[in-house]
Amino acid sequence: MAIYDQHMHTYFSPDASEVFEEYLKQTSGPIVTTEHLDFNDPFSGKDTILDYEKYSKTIDELNAQYNNRIRKGIEIGYTKDSHQQIQDYLIGKDFDVQLLSVHQNGEYDFLQPIVKEKEVQDVMNEYFPLLLKAVENFPTANVLSHFDYGIRLFEVSVEELQEHQSILKKVLQTVIDKNMAFELNTRSMYQYGNVDLYEQMISWYLELGGNSFSLGSDAHSIAYYGFHFDDAIALLEKHGVSTVTVFEQQKPAELSSSQFKDVK
Ligand SMILES: [Zn+2]
Ligand SMILES: [Zn+2]
Repeated sequence: MAIYDQHMHTYFSPDASEVFEEYLKQTSGPIVTTEHLDFNDPFSGKDTILDYEKYSKTIDELNAQYNNRIRKGIEIGYTKDSHQQIQDYLIGKDFDVQLLSVHQNGEYDFLQPIVKEKEVQDVMNEYFPLLLKAVENFPTANVLSHFDYGIRLFEVSVEELQEHQSILKKVLQTVIDKNMAFELNTRSMYQYGNVDLYEQMISWYLELGGNSFSLGSDAHSIAYYGFHFDDAIALLEKHGVSTVTVFEQQKPAELSSSQFKDVK
């Protein structure tokens, strides 16, 4: 199997325009896209709702042509206020993988410029509890995505992150208790420069007994497909981890990291 990137967007997400066919060209194996579901999205002031009927129909048609290589995924942007709307939306819909993300606090998205005006410690004091609530409260998700989304706009040192060790360990323990995978978001790591923060999280997660890692670039175009996966795999191997978790029909499968090498 070539690289399997478990966090990617197509034109079914409002902030992306990539087509499935281009992603299919990147690998000989299966692909999955994880499209946005964000109720009350501060970027648009509207609900960002994946058109599931159209998404499924498009994938069914392409799967007939491309040997069933496309899996269905969704990136759930969690807020407490939208909990019920998310659950209602998911009824009767099949996804191979559900990513769980915290992008916003009900008022603003953590990538909006207003966040940059705040103190980083205040932002962490707000964001990490939101992350904990999301993993505690959301029942069906498979992967905790980009734990650092809330601090992507800041330069945070490992020492500053360690001040939040207690709550972050609770987040990781909940990921373990709920049989979720912890995402190595390679754009966070190698584009936003948070690889050292991820390395700290990997250490804590392993100490707590976690062993399920998901690799996702968060690509919005093929330019980022499998972004720095070799480096992420090397980091896992440095920590004695030799498998990556992928989901099909929301069931986990462990793949050896050597299978993740690009063979295109
Ligand atoms: Zn996201
Ligand atoms: Zn995403």
